[in-house]
Amino acid sequence: MSSILISGGTVVTAAGTQDADVLVDGEKIAAVLPREPGAAVAAAADRIIDATGKYVLPGGIDVHTHMEMPFGGTFSADTFETGTRAAAWGGTTTIIDFAVQAKGTSLLATLDKWHAKADGNCSIDYGFHMIVSDVNDTTLKEMDACIAAGVNSFKMFMAYPGVFYATDGEILLAMQQAARSGATVMMHAENGIAIDQLVAQALAAGRTDPVNHGLTRPPELEAEATSRAITLAKVANCPLYIVHMSASQALEAVAEARDGGQNVFAETCPQYLFLSLDDLARPEFEGSKFVCSPPLRPKEHQNSLWRGLRTNDLSVVSTDHCPFCFKDQKELGRGDFSKIPNGMPGVEHRMDLLHAGVAAGRLTLSRWVEVSSTTPARMFGLYPRKGVIAAGSDADIVIYDPQARQTLSAATHHMNVDYSAYEGLEITGQVVTTLSRGRAVIDDGQYQGTAGHGAFLARGPNQYLL
Ligand SMILES: [Zn+2]
Repeated sequence: MSSILISGGTVVTAAGTQDADVLVDGEKIAAVLPREPGAAVAAAADRIIDATGKYVLPGGIDVHTHMEMPFGGTFSADTFETGTRAAAWGGTTTIIDFAVQAKGTSLLATLDKWHAKADGNCSIDYGFHMIVSDVNDTTLKEMDACIAAGVNSFKMFMAYPGVFYATDGEILLAMQQAARSGATVMMHAENGIAIDQLVAQALAAGRTDPVNHGLTRPPELEAEATSRAITLAKVANCPLYIVHMSASQALEAVAEARDGGQNVFAETCPQYLFLSLDDLARPEFEGSKFVCSPPLRPKEHQNSLWRGLRTNDLSVVSTDHCPFCFKDQKELGRGDFSKIPNGMPGVEHRMDLLHAGVAAGRLTLSRWVEVSSTTPARMFGLYPRKGVIAAGSDADIVIYDPQARQTLSAATHHMNVDYSAYEGLEITGQVVTTLSRGRAVIDDGQYQGTAGHGAFLARGPNQYLL
């Protein structure tokens, strides 16, 4: 086991900033050593990393990714190997991915299947949520076994009838079971029954371009489903976490529930903060690159989401990373927007895009770390092992250069997908080094990691619950 001293940097945590050196011993942080201006290096180590002028951050935690996920006859383009490597390039040291129960199969067999995909292939640590798409007596009983296996959060869908969709009754049953077991239910909140009617009407009228994906999923149907999920969670007394919130009306419903004291939480994603319906309307089928659900919204929603991040009505920023190549995958929906695979690449640039928000005066430095690392760790039962720079925590550390300039592009990114949703966007700030449990994964512009270094994280319950 070797020791590393990260010297001269500014340690940024959810609690604030501090001029301090960080001593890593093996896989753990051994000490955070406050530094007097001009003082000499305070500890000996096998390796000293000069972090002068850089931020020293707890590694990012992306709680919403879909590596090699089956969708409409194809698979998302990143494997656990390529996706976790790209994550590390962008300063993310933990992902929580979704195991997807197919109808008629068991939750535990599903979990085994996802372990088989991920185990031995990840360069950073990982955990799973479980997507419950088939609610029955067996499944409900299996939820406890999932919790015992380290999967403490269950995702359900009010969208995608015939695939993942659950009725209100099924949702209520699963919420009651989760409540009894101290688990959190995560919700894709869009009214899929109504959306399917709007989609059928658009196609019948010959409106087949990608922009119609957005127009047939209006914000009101996200708000309605969000409110309904909140009501069901209240009746079941179950903690609720709304995934990928995109609409200001839905955010209002969450804010009201939180003001009322209910255990309701929500995340948003960079694409909803930076992109809009205008991107879905790009010509030449280019809009298909921006098809995800809920859809990108008119620009005015962005301000509400940034404000929600400041007020903590939005607690987390994840990516919903679910990449499909433009060629051969997105193209499946030429002439019928409803056949475009839903999802966008993003796992690599979450920290950078949020740092752009810091540079633009939309978030404080501490809030940047909080929404991208500390709160995700607490929300999903990983704190203080993850999400903080403190003695005893895993040495998941990012050294970040806040002055570096970079241009996001498919030509330079590391995700296994043939386009960037942010092609040509210039931003300030870039990862220099990423450590995962004391091991350099990204070091001075080089990938130094290995598939299989990443370990499965058995998670405990949501730490915001009383
Ligand atoms: Zn998702």
